[in-house]
Amino acid sequence: MDALKSMQLYFNRAADRLDLPESIRKMLLTSKREVQVQVPIIRDNGELETFVGYRVQHDNSRGPMKGGFRYHPEVDLDEVRALAALMTWKTAVVNLPYGGAKGGLAIDPKTFSPRELETITRKFIDGIHDIFGPDIDIPAPDMGTNDKVMAWIMNQYGKYHGFSPACVTGKPVDMHGLPGREEATGRGVAIIALKVLSRLNRKPQQTRIAIQGFGNVGTFAAKFLHESECKIVAISDVSGGYFKSDGIDIPAALRYAMEHRGSLEGISGCEKISNAELLTLDCDMLIPAALGGVITKEIAPKIKAPFIVEAANAPTNVDADDLLFERGIFVVPDILANAGGVTASYFEWVQNRQHYSWGLNRCRQELDHIMGDAFQQVWDLGKEHKASLRTAAYMLGIGRVRKAAALAGIA
Ligand code: GLU
Repeated sequence: MDALKSMQLYFNRAADRLDLPESIRKMLLTSKREVQVQVPIIRDNGELETFVGYRVQHDNSRGPMKGGFRYHPEVDLDEVRALAALMTWKTAVVNLPYGGAKGGLAIDPKTFSPRELETITRKFIDGIHDIFGPDIDIPAPDMGTNDKVMAWIMNQYGKYHGFSPACVTGKPVDMHGLPGREEATGRGVAIIALKVLSRLNRKPQQTRIAIQGFGNVGTFAAKFLHESECKIVAISDVSGGYFKSDGIDIPAALRYAMEHRGSLEGISGCEKISNAELLTLDCDMLIPAALGGVITKEIAPKIKAPFIVEAANAPTNVDADDLLFERGIFVVPDILANAGGVTASYFEWVQNRQHYSWGLNRCRQELDHIMGDAFQQVWDLGKEHKASLRTAAYMLGIGRVRKAAALAGIA
């Protein structure tokens, strides 16, 4: 089941509970604009190679559209469509004045030199610079992109439109970026994980957590959960999974990854396990923080963790989600759990527009506050409607988007 079908099914479940007529569903499931551009570059070997760049702008009923650029070999139009719609529901769940968008290129950035990556990014922006901007649609990092890519985007956009730091978020701190943006998605995941534990009277010290993925989100989630005294018993990256029953020394693992170009390969003191073993580990909480679609209907019956916090976008296929629900496994959905990133992006955008910097402490405080409020609202809605947290989060997000569209006189 692909991400688009899963998103549409999740949407319709919530829409049923909200009694949304078919005409409104169709409007909310149709992207506002989908753009596909040619991105030709001269590779380092002198050969011309042409790529396709996508930007899907899903909905702007609540404000300018917002969402990352993904550089990953599996990027295609349907995936970008699904992720753009997820951004619309996500920004609405945390009540940011934004709509949703997503974009990307089907490339493996690891096979590109820095010069090639810069060229392809600038060419991509040449193709779409007139359809985004601070009041229209604001890109940000996603899988395979980072603050450096965002700096090229700001610079290239500026060549057409003049100085506009608010045209993109997730920029380097030394180039109108925000201290606290890089850590924000992982911090948000940790905030939500701790809220779940406290709601269910579980102590962090007695919580054994497995985290799949040790990229931006997984590393910061691990860091903050470790600092909160949770036991991180397993972590993983493309080189495989690493397990230690009495808890991995996370600061040491972070240092190891830093010293080994981000890889955990060869880390000592842990038992090597496969990524599938990590997902089905006997632990208290599972945090998928890597690719989408990893929790399949084959894996779902074997999952032992009673709680799943979706740090990645769309990690659970809908047929797997049904099995998890039947088994009483408690899932915090992506559109709530990983909303910390876009929330900090909003702070960056606000500060860029005001030309005034808040500093790290205020960013953290405001992030904790927004994530806490959103969790409370989703939790209460779930209770009230006896719905899963996913359905409750979709109800909250879709309801807000629908209300804004109605107020604007659209429908
Ligand atoms: N790519 C991130 C997400 O999926 C962040 C988007 C943003 O900051 O606009 O939520």
